[in-house]
Formats: sequence, C-alpha cells, structure tokens
Amino acid sequence: MKTENKPASITIQLHAGRLDLALARKITELAEENGFSLYLSNSQNIRIMNIPATAVAAIKEELRPFGVQFRKSGTFPVPRTCVGKPHCERARTDTMKLSQKITSAFAKRTQVKGKFKIAISGCGFCCSGAKTTDIGIIAVTNGFDIYVGGKGGHTPQAGRRIKKKISEKEVLETIETIVAFHDEKTVTKQRLAKLAARPDFPFSEI
Ligand code: SF4
Repeated sequence: MKTENKPASITIQLHAGRLDLALARKITELAEENGFSLYLSNSQNIRIMNIPATAVAAIKEELRPFGVQFRKSGTFPVPRTCVGKPHCERARTDTMKLSQKITSAFAKRTQVKGKFKIAISGCGFCCSGAKTTDIGIIAVTNGFDIYVGGKGGHTPQAGRRIKKKISEKEVLETIETIVAFHDEKTVTKQRLAKLAARPDFPFSEI
C-alpha cells in the first residue's frame, strides 16, 4: 500500500465528554458517505478512523465550522470528567463547569509538554479515574481534594493526595504550580508519577 493511501484518523477533543448534536450529525454524515468508523476514546475524545491520508485536510475543513478542536501535541489537556451535577445524585459539583474553568484558564498555553492528564470526579467514587490520573480533582464536602501522580498502564499507581477541601480558585492555582514544575523538569514529555515523588516537588502528601 502506498503511504499516501494508508488510512489515517482525526481525533476531536470533546469537552466534559459532551458531543454537540450538530457535530454528531456531521460526523455521522461523513462516516456514512465515506465509510469511516468512529472510536470513543478513554480520554473522552472521538476519533474518526479509516480516512485516506490524502483526505484528512479536506475532512478537517468540513469539521472546522462546528468549532471543533483537533487533538495535537503542545495543547493543554482537556480534563476527563464524570457526568457530575445535575446528572448524578451523588455529585457534589458540576464537573462540566469546573472543566470549562480549567480549560479556559489554560487555553492560551502553547507548547505544553506531554504527557500529563487531568481528571475531575464529582464525588469519591471517582468514575473518571481521578485517583489514577496525573492530576485528579475530586469534589468533596466543602471543596475539592487534589491527587497527583496517579497512572494506569503496566504498573498502575494511585495518586497521592496533596490538597484537601480547597476552593475552585485554589484548584486552579494548584494546577498552575504543578504544571510549572512539570514544565521545568521535563525535556519533552513525562507523566507526573515520578515527579510527584521527588523531594523538591512543591506539595507534600496529606
Ligand atoms: S464520580 Fe460520583 S458524581 Fe461522578 S458519576 Fe461517579 S458517582 Fe456520580
């Protein structure tokens, strides 16, 4: 098979796992017309697959009017969230709103070094895997707990709690500090698990 005909894919970042209906219709239309297949990723993105490499640019142009954000390296990670308030009776917060606040607070960041992820859970059940993600935010009574250094993969590891019952403002400040430390100590990319165990990591386990 020639390289230019090798199937490619396009990954669209979805915010808080929500898929806009007009975009859903457009993706369905493109998939039906062209024989593409769709994959919903663990990171709550949607991947359009089996696109001829030569058609990727044209397909992206068709999707751009829907305000989509294509996943690419160097962009700040969109948090993975559980469904949150008001859709889950256990939820202590609107996870989508908090995700939007985080996303807009860091939207202008470019050249963000990989590959840390962020997850938000509306309660301690952690349906979004907040304790097994680099930066995990869990809504609790009167605020948020923050965990760092969690990961899955070959050697799963639970994150360590570094903040208890803090405000949304403090959540943003804490993320800022963690990301600055990650940027300072990272050449190209790394998870937070090892960094969080360093003696000079700016937060201690509590
Ligand atoms: S983490 Fe809690 S609030 Fe979120 S979906 Fe699960 S049970 Fe509901």
